[in-house]
Amino acid sequence: MTSQMRRIALARRPSGVPVPEDFAMETGPIPTPGAGEVLIEVSHHSLDPYMRGRMDDAGSYAASLELGETMIGQGIGRVLASEAEGFAQGDVVTGMTGWASHAVLPGDQLRVLDPSVPATTALGVLGMPGFTAWTALREYGRPKAGETLVIAAATGPVGAMVGQLAKAAGLRTVAIAGGDQKCQLALEKFGFDAAIDHRAHSEANSLRAALAEVCPDGVDIYWENVGGKILEAVTPLMNVHGRIPVCGTIAWYGGSDEAANRLPQVWRAILTKRLSVNGFIIFDHWDGFPAFLEEVAPKIAAGEIAYLEDITEGLENAPQTFIGMLTGGNTGKTIIKV
Ligand code: NDP
Repeated sequence: MTSQMRRIALARRPSGVPVPEDFAMETGPIPTPGAGEVLIEVSHHSLDPYMRGRMDDAGSYAASLELGETMIGQGIGRVLASEAEGFAQGDVVTGMTGWASHAVLPGDQLRVLDPSVPATTALGVLGMPGFTAWTALREYGRPKAGETLVIAAATGPVGAMVGQLAKAAGLRTVAIAGGDQKCQLALEKFGFDAAIDHRAHSEANSLRAALAEVCPDGVDIYWENVGGKILEAVTPLMNVHGRIPVCGTIAWYGGSDEAANRLPQVWRAILTKRLSVNGFIIFDHWDGFPAFLEEVAPKIAAGEIAYLEDITEGLENAPQTFIGMLTGGNTGKTIIKV
């Protein structure tokens, strides 16, 4: 056990895509757990796109981080000391540790991990991103065999899970991903029927033409992960009564995508095609998490669902890795090994 706690704090509010100066490494004494609390030595923490929104002070569905506050995030680690019932030294647990080497959290905000699957799966395929895919595909995608689904960020933890669940439900699945390597992964590892490299198309019209070729029957479900050029390309290809679960709009997280200025075309397609467009935030659905684990964990243990993790070593590398993930530098679920 090291004698100091290290944490990455929000040093400055970013403008557009964050830069390393927006973060600061802080050190201090390792905290002591009070009654009902647990001290965790964090082994890994997650990096997720939603964290970008928390760095702004604009109001959103969740509170902003304060300047100087530890960057938010889920982590996993070993219990060093417990003052909470149900947790013993050495237990491997997960909770909202933040980007830090140690965390003290109330026992009722922690979960002991299932040892039958690798602990890091709790951050991706068996955690919030996998659960997002599992929940919202059924609830808002309403997939039917024979339909076509299109999804971008297709090799990320949300996209890869949506693609595999849709394929298992009998849909034609079309991936949009950044670069040849990710397109190959989408086809070979995650079983998509077709894959398109969005980086090869600077214009929405060109991307739309490429998509039209691999979606001969149109698009029934467009799972929205990205917004921007991709939303503009796909929406006119939607079939009547198509569904668009709106999960994320990462192309706009830095506020710079000029396609945002052309949104009226997209909204018109929503009207004329009578599309169902459902925004959702996974936090509203946590009561379904035990059912998700019960169904999906055995499939992970049996190797029936593929997943990919992109693990970078060193807490000090979290800011640069996070910045890279926001612009496609990750291949799979982005994780920091503290
Ligand atoms: P990923 O690990 O897939 O990382 C983000 C990916 O987005 C990048 O790797 C890149 O993939 C892609 N991307 C970034 N910028 C662009 C762009 N301008 N155009 C096209 N693609 C881009 O992320 P997750 O799977 O964790 O999350 C996917 C989405 O789901 C995000 O928008 C996230 O905010 C959202 N989300 C929403 C939740 C909710 O409750 N609503 C819950 C969880 C996630 P590539 O290189 O292939 O382009």
